[in-house]
Amino acid sequence: MGLGSLFRRGKKESKEEVVEQCHIDINTDECGGCEKCAIACPNNVLQIIDDACSVRDAQVCKTCRVCVAICPNDCITVN
Ligand code: SF4
Ligand code: SF4
Repeated sequence: MGLGSLFRRGKKESKEEVVEQCHIDINTDECGGCEKCAIACPNNVLQIIDDACSVRDAQVCKTCRVCVAICPNDCITVN
């Protein structure tokens, strides 16, 4: 066994962590600003501004889709 293979064996494997950001679509034309989604979201992703839902911080969304299920107007899509 040559020195080269010893070095290769000792080489640390680099593990790349891919953080996928979720995509939240809100149909603001249909949103009545009821705030149900913002209250139900466990990660405080959503907020209501001027009687319409908007995304406060998509990076903390865990794609649980609680907001999608609770919206009475079907205006949220989470991918
Ligand atoms: S999918 Fe879950 S975490 Fe993301 S915005 Fe909706 S309720 Fe919040
Ligand atoms: S639950 Fe639906 S209608 Fe109510 S604020 Fe959220 S997106 Fe708008």
